Amino acid sequence: MDTGKKMLESAQDIIIKTANRLGFREDMVKRLLEPNAIHEVNFSVGNKIYKGFRIQHNNNLGPYKGGIRFHQNVSREEVQALATLMTIKCAVAGLPYGGGKGGVVVEPKGFSESELEGLSRAYVRAIAPFIGQDFDVPAPDVNTNPKIMAWMVDEYVKNVKTQSSNVRSDKKQLNKLRATFTGKPISIGGSLGRTEATGRGGVIVLQSLISKLHNNVIPNSFRDLLSKNQMLKQVQHDKQLTVAVQGYGNVGYYFAKLAYEEGFKIVAVSDSKGAVLVNDGLNPDTTLNCKKEKGTVAGCYCRGSVCDIRFGRTISSESLLELPVDILVPAALENVINETNMKKIQAKIIVEMANGPVTEEAYEYLTEKGVIIVPDVLANSGGVSVSYLEWYQNMRNERWSENEVNEKLKIMMEKAFSAIWEKASGHKRLDLKRAAFEVAIERIVKKWQSHV
Ligand code: GLU
Repeated sequence: MDTGKKMLESAQDIIIKTANRLGFREDMVKRLLEPNAIHEVNFSVGNKIYKGFRIQHNNNLGPYKGGIRFHQNVSREEVQALATLMTIKCAVAGLPYGGGKGGVVVEPKGFSESELEGLSRAYVRAIAPFIGQDFDVPAPDVNTNPKIMAWMVDEYVKNVKTQSSNVRSDKKQLNKLRATFTGKPISIGGSLGRTEATGRGGVIVLQSLISKLHNNVIPNSFRDLLSKNQMLKQVQHDKQLTVAVQGYGNVGYYFAKLAYEEGFKIVAVSDSKGAVLVNDGLNPDTTLNCKKEKGTVAGCYCRGSVCDIRFGRTISSESLLELPVDILVPAALENVINETNMKKIQAKIIVEMANGPVTEEAYEYLTEKGVIIVPDVLANSGGVSVSYLEWYQNMRNERWSENEVNEKLKIMMEKAFSAIWEKASGHKRLDLKRAAFEVAIERIVKKWQSHV
């Protein structure tokens, strides 16, 4: 089965199980499975034709929210799965948003800047009728970034202006229109702290989890399982924890950098071209500079400010996942921990910074073994949380300092973690994913019931 289909099946399967466990009516469960709208668009750039999607899954809690990815594996099923996960993620994060996602089937690596701009603008012209600051708010995702958001929002504003002659063009009105996209550059209404937000949010959640383990705030029901997990001993003896990060894009890099600054030892990182292992711990910033020079982290054995072949060795991206580290952080693509490698995973905590990196089978297997998996809908929700703060600033014509944004993010992430930890504490095993889905579905259905 292709990965998109598998991902959609997994997301729907958890929703069905969770909603049944919570005793919700069948029609409500169905409404949570099927998206409200699926927009499939075909558009041209020069003489090339592209297929794109914008899928609006659920807007019970507020406008649809979610990124746009450019990738050759984009499919209707994949985008639908990701839109579904956005509904859950926004509810977990406590945001007044529903879930949506967009994608274009394209391999953008090797595109010139002007080709990328043409593609971004053409896609926005195709989806412009379906989005808006109060209705559906896109953002960056895989292979898209603030620069691409700048082209997209510019095209969107132009489009709105040509459609309606009574759009005022004062600053306030422009800011509101720009709120249709988040993850923008600062100069056109982006928020300070947005670029780092996904990585920062992940580190905050990881620290919250470790502090529970450290203080031994563990419900009796899963104490036995966790005692198999050497992690508890290590955390409680204040040992420096080792981390391997798969993916060195915006999410992986900032996770590594901020975790390093918080005292974790980053022993391995990878990108799509290869991986490095530095047993004594690498410096994420020097590694990034080296990657910029070489085009890959492979060969970047960087400690402190120096990179030297004697510090480490090159390994494959697959073997990075199987290293005997305390914490494994898949921060690239979906389904990388699956039936074929789950038995070889040695990490004690997995932080899902990508969307859907652990398949359902692998999740079940590893959870039974006592591995603590922090699910994507919680771990990577820092990105959409600061997207919300950006949208909020635009809608009110405000601008906040980076500190203010970071402080608000910390409060939001800690609150989201606490609700899920508390929910999981009532379960028989430490299953943060089920708990997250329960918290989210309860919030969505409660809002629903207040409408009918
Ligand atoms: N693409 C990111 C995600 O999957 C961010 C979405 C957003 O900011 O709307 O969470």
